[in-house]
Amino acid sequence: MASSPSYSQSLLPNPRILILDRIERESDRFRLRVHVEQEPRCPVCGAMARSRHSVYSRRLQDFPWQGVAIELWAAVGRFRCRNSSCPRKIFCERLPQIARAYGRQTERASEVVRLIGYVAGGLPGQRLLVRLSITTSDDTVLRRVREKPTEAAAIPIHNLGVDDWAWRKGQDYGTILVNLDLHRVVDLLPDRAAESFSAWLKQHPEIVTISRDRCGLYAEGATLGAPQSQQVADRFHLLVNLSATMERVLEECSRQLILPPVEQPPAEPPEAIVAEVSKEPPLPVPSRATQSQLRRQRRLERYQQVVALFNSGQTQTAISRALGMARKTIRRWLRRGEFPERKPPHRPPPKVSEFGDYLQQRWNEGCHNASRLYREIRQKGYAGKHAMVRRFVSGWRKTGKPTSPAAPQRISPKHAAILVTRPADKISDEQQQLLNRIETQCPEVIDLRNISLGFRAALVADDSEQLRRWIEGAKHSEFGPVVRFAYGLQKDISAVSAAVDTSWSTGQVEGQINRLKTIKRQMFGRAGFELLRARVLPYSTVTVAGPAP
Ligand SMILES: [Zn+2]
Repeated sequence: MASSPSYSQSLLPNPRILILDRIERESDRFRLRVHVEQEPRCPVCGAMARSRHSVYSRRLQDFPWQGVAIELWAAVGRFRCRNSSCPRKIFCERLPQIARAYGRQTERASEVVRLIGYVAGGLPGQRLLVRLSITTSDDTVLRRVREKPTEAAAIPIHNLGVDDWAWRKGQDYGTILVNLDLHRVVDLLPDRAAESFSAWLKQHPEIVTISRDRCGLYAEGATLGAPQSQQVADRFHLLVNLSATMERVLEECSRQLILPPVEQPPAEPPEAIVAEVSKEPPLPVPSRATQSQLRRQRRLERYQQVVALFNSGQTQTAISRALGMARKTIRRWLRRGEFPERKPPHRPPPKVSEFGDYLQQRWNEGCHNASRLYREIRQKGYAGKHAMVRRFVSGWRKTGKPTSPAAPQRISPKHAAILVTRPADKISDEQQQLLNRIETQCPEVIDLRNISLGFRAALVADDSEQLRRWIEGAKHSEFGPVVRFAYGLQKDISAVSAAVDTSWSTGQVEGQINRLKTIKRQMFGRAGFELLRARVLPYSTVTVAGPAP
């Protein structure tokens, strides 16, 4: 297909040296025959080459045109390097801004593959690319993402956040490093170790502050690798440590963590009020059986009236008008020849739940055998299935035994610790009530609550002196874990004070860890460290030659 190449020429990558000869239409793609017009230079010595050795065809995948795949077939020369001091004798001419040596895609197509792989991952990226007529494999997509590891930021880092992330939870951990000023991940380390962290820090002597958790590894790494920097303990991690301390204390008195039943205010019996108001003895309410007898009596009288009127020669229509009854009913009654008795009402057989009280009583007495309970309630009139009884009591089996409302309720030390450390303005009425109920059995909670609130107040006050006073006080606490916590803070006092005196925290690092986890899971475990690192670090564009304007 020979067409005017004028516009098509301008769509080529680096159209100054790549010249379009003709376009061939294949069933599913365009094949663009092109040749190169440039002064070839030896890639080793840079000398201009004049003697052509041979020509070969190089095939390159490029951007699709209007959804049709494009294949460039470039006639590329091999040349001799005549520079006698150059070790290279023969070389292939390079295609600057078009494709790398040995590349099978143009640089610009390759860049799109890399970007899609970075954003979407291997297989999703491959599917998207196929739809865009860039046929490639998911392996290639991932290779592209991996092969250009984004340069660890050349921008100086002043304030660094560091934390660990789980590669495999409970087994392997890595380290994430975040530029807190730019809110950008600057690097990932494959492990969580003081050595690797300090080695990394030594390449960044410009760092001023390091915000970290209170795990000793990062403290040690920071001291070794960046002694010039100010370390800042993260506030959130300090509160986590506080909560863990409270949990340890509460574990020691877990026997006391029982909730007394809520005391219901005694309700006024409504009958008493009614009785006071009306001195008259109440009218006797007819029993259920009497009511139905009365109804039958009225119906029977009706029937007898109908029969009498009919025997006196009245038509059915006349009877219907006289008694105000439906003619259909009259006809049915007369046809029947006798008084139509009502069918006894259908009553469904009693359900298991109707024996709930009895079952609960037996359960509390220690009978947990569903078959035996089934036999017992059968004798009391239960006609349902054995399975229903089993299901009915299975809930009690799971939750333990507290079936009777009077049984004491327990609260876990963790839950109690959460309540104890809750900030005063964030505790709900319900939580406060729960806390009050715990206090009745475990009065230590009152002291623990005061210690926690004191610590929080010192953190919020932005006054490291107050924090130091809190630590001094806590050192003399009656609770062992609190004392240990206080001495731990004392040891790390410079970083702990900085948590109060500066505004740095690893809050945004946690956000980046969430992003990392999402990417990691998206790759279904295919993510090696390098690939994960390439996708977590910010994407850096490579300058690509687009079509000439
Ligand atoms: Zn050369």
